[in-house]
Amino acid sequence: MTTIRTSVGVFSSILVVFYLSQAHAQQANLGTHAHGVSELNIVIEGNKIEIQLRTPAMNIVGFEHEASTKKQIKKVKQSEAKLHDHKALFSFSSGDCRLTQTQIDLANLIKNNVIEKDIHDHHKSDSDNNHEHEDEASVHSEVVAHYHYDCEDMDDLSSLSLGFFDVFPAMQQINGIWITTSEQGAAALTRSNKTITF
Ligand SMILES: [Zn+2]
Repeated sequence: MTTIRTSVGVFSSILVVFYLSQAHAQQANLGTHAHGVSELNIVIEGNKIEIQLRTPAMNIVGFEHEASTKKQIKKVKQSEAKLHDHKALFSFSSGDCRLTQTQIDLANLIKNNVIEKDIHDHHKSDSDNNHEHEDEASVHSEVVAHYHYDCEDMDDLSSLSLGFFDVFPAMQQINGIWITTSEQGAAALTRSNKTITF
């Protein structure tokens, strides 16, 4: 961050996203998270757009336990690359928006390294391994992705179309919340209705 003004702007947006996330988290705590359903928070402030996706890992990688096999680790890496391919995920109606920052958090899926895992497994008996299998099925984890854009002409920006349903076929519904300095709105997006209108 180069100037104080930039820092304050980013900071306040992060706060808004944090509160939105907390609201979603509180909703989530009332029940289990629903596979197929994701949350998308969009903050538009000045010429900046910050987007946060929070989704069950099931929608992105097809499992929610920590990746341990080569195949699972490969799947996580492929999913990460797909999440980085923002042009396939977000289509702005206009505004000449340029991606300035991306953060993809897959830590729940690939946090501990494989060596640790191997050492752990050596202490397990066969019955313990069965236990682990049950645990894997009952584990739930989420993927969080942040996208920051700088736009040239926000006055013309009227909508955002989502490509998630094509890139990640397990996604069925995205609950979108958008907020600007003067307005806010919400939309339940689906494969047949994937455009948010501001
Ligand atoms: Zn789950």
